[in-house]
Amino acid sequence: MKHRVGIVGAGQLARMMAQAAIPLGIELTLLAASPDDGAAKVVPNVVVGSPDDPDRIRELAARVDVITFDHELVDPDLLDALVAEGHDVQPRPDEMRLAQNKRLQRQMVTDAGLPGPAWTQVDDVSDVERFAGEHGWPVVLKAVRGGYDGRGVWKVDDRDMAETVVTGARDTGTELLAEAFQPLDGELAVLVARNPSGDCRVYPATETVQRDGICHELHVPARFGEEVSREAEALAMQIAERIGATGMLAIEFFVVAGRVLINELAPRPHNSGHWTIEGAEVSQFEQHLRAVLDWPLGGTAMVAPAAVTRNLLGPEDGSDPFARIPLSLGRSAAHIHWYGKESRPGRKIGHVTARADAPADAERIATVAWSALMAGEEQGT
Ligand code: ADP
Repeated sequence: MKHRVGIVGAGQLARMMAQAAIPLGIELTLLAASPDDGAAKVVPNVVVGSPDDPDRIRELAARVDVITFDHELVDPDLLDALVAEGHDVQPRPDEMRLAQNKRLQRQMVTDAGLPGPAWTQVDDVSDVERFAGEHGWPVVLKAVRGGYDGRGVWKVDDRDMAETVVTGARDTGTELLAEAFQPLDGELAVLVARNPSGDCRVYPATETVQRDGICHELHVPARFGEEVSREAEALAMQIAERIGATGMLAIEFFVVAGRVLINELAPRPHNSGHWTIEGAEVSQFEQHLRAVLDWPLGGTAMVAPAAVTRNLLGPEDGSDPFARIPLSLGRSAAHIHWYGKESRPGRKIGHVTARADAPADAERIATVAWSALMAGEEQGT
């Protein structure tokens, strides 16, 4: 029976997969960039090396039944080679290719006739001007590859600003696309689990509260109303089926005037699903492992009426919240997840989740825990 999973990457997602692997007897082996990576500290089987090093990834492949990922920074051609050599790679290389490229994602959404923001490819600043002529300023310019947490996203108000970004991108060889700026009511993410046999399950839509392109909070149920959530969940299932996703797939949405627009996708467990550890019948991490092994999937329903997660970002004063874990535990029933990373200002170093009978209670319990850990920080919204 297949039960040995190799994970490329050893960050917090792999660390939380390790926690989920234990009760099911799933054996993990990691390809870690460094033995100090968060997951490498808690998993005994570790290959140290770069995911772009064919020898290291083959060393990983030789030790496991299936290869999966905790990030998408892997060369899909190398993955194709592994598949050709008979290795099981889930998600498939084409799904990884799609996840690495925002233009391919936008094209897929357009081809499928699904709702997304108006967009165009940008080769020159005149492309941005023409697009703004049709859709108005501001325009959002995005790096087609390599962006995350708002890096590689520029809101430009006029031709001069656009020119600065386009010139800078040309200098660094960065391909760009332009998107119509959306007046957001807010943002949602929907997690879908799908296994190679085609079993597919969707989690309740999650509201993601973003500031400066970084996700700070999760609220489930999302606060845009049932209809918006159900629409996003149906679209997410449609996309998972269309691309033949395997493992967890996170689809991010914009909510604009009560309707959803597809933003981007991630082919793995995702920050927006961290609440599922305590808040759902089966967590996204266990579900991902089950799915890539082609085992039966589990329930995605909530186990309480409300869940709130707050991310811990390294405090600006340089202090380390780790030492305040006992203080937080003494004040709140929220569940703390520490990622085993050194704290640096703005870096995601953990999260807290509270579930409760009412959203306001979940929010209060999570905020008390978060505030104790982040002593001195502004609370945000
Ligand atoms: P990343 O890959 O960094 O997550 P996103 O495309 O999700 O990039 O953009 C980061 C954030 O920027 C989004 O969460 C959203 O808040 C804002 N944003 C991105 N595109 C648009 C848009 N077209 N209109 C309005 N806001 C946007």
